[in-house]
Amino acid sequence: MTISIPVSPKKKAHRITSDTRICPICFTKAMFSWSYIETDATVYENDPLFKYARCLACHQYSMWLPNNTLIFPAPKGQFKPHRYMPEDVKVDFEEANSIVDKSPRGAAALLRLALQKLCVYLGGSGSINSDIKNLYKEGRDEKLRKAMDYVRVVGNEAVHPGEIQVNDNPEIARTLFKLINYIVDHKIALEREIDEVYESLPDDKKQQINDRDKGSK
Ligand SMILES: [Zn+2]
Repeated sequence: MTISIPVSPKKKAHRITSDTRICPICFTKAMFSWSYIETDATVYENDPLFKYARCLACHQYSMWLPNNTLIFPAPKGQFKPHRYMPEDVKVDFEEANSIVDKSPRGAAALLRLALQKLCVYLGGSGSINSDIKNLYKEGRDEKLRKAMDYVRVVGNEAVHPGEIQVNDNPEIARTLFKLINYIVDHKIALEREIDEVYESLPDDKKQQINDRDKGSK
């Protein structure tokens, strides 16, 4: 593989380190051997270094900025987790994102797992089917139920292949990322925002509302 560097390398630095990470080329978790190229240009925030890595599984090279942003091969995963996504859900979301181009089926299975954890975060028991049913009973939100059931059904089909062939149609897997973010947005972000603005109402207004609702029983 030939890597063209957009600036002229001044010298190859001698520092060589290694670590383990998911390779952006072969998508396996592998040892990376890192080298550094000093350039005569500012690459990132006054740092003139490019980093390049050789994956010891596929022996291919990737290139990175000093802050560990992948620049070659061009990163393909475009799905960013919602900023209110719970941490344990985010782990599966990001792993799915790292493999979706190589294995849409694997990504779909991971996103089903992400949904299962999300349901637990929202008060469920971990049994995804009944958790969705109960969450629907709570809010009667038809769109939310459809989003959750779509992720659940496609994720199940990815694990036990049935009528939906996820690998034959990667767009199906890509849709799941949007739906997981939709669920986080509606069940966590939006509700948190409503609570916050409601709390900011003057106390006497909130008291009037409480009194009204008590009286309506
Ligand atoms: Zn590799």
